[in-house]
Amino acid sequence: MDCIFCRIVEKKAQAKILYEDERSIAFEDIAPQAPVHVLIIPRRHISTALEIREEDKDLIGHLFLIASKIASEKGIAERGFRLVLNCNREAGQTVFHLHLHLLGG
Ligand code: AMP
Ligand code: ZN
Repeated sequence: MDCIFCRIVEKKAQAKILYEDERSIAFEDIAPQAPVHVLIIPRRHISTALEIREEDKDLIGHLFLIASKIASEKGIAERGFRLVLNCNREAGQTVFHLHLHLLGG
């Protein structure tokens, strides 16, 4: 499997990383759709929202906590931001490694 986000996790592909811990990593989107456009992903490869399992519930909640933390750091928390998760092609998913878009500014 050749996954660009797994390659970023493994540091085999470059990205502007803003946050990382043992379960997740956040980096700037390469083609920003807003002044702040950050992607928050699990380190482990999960293809789509449909592959989220019962035991992943804490991990998914963790991604949302990281997103709001970054929103605060970026100064957009009070003004407002969007969290977007696209699932499969008709929703516009192009990278099949689960990711939460943080959009704001
Ligand atoms: P989606 O359409 O939800 O699958 O979003 C995929 C996002 O990943 C898009 O906003 C792309 O601009 C972004 N993207 C693709 N490749 C990279 C990369 N190498 N580094 C950072 N962001 C990327
Ligand atoms: Zn992956």
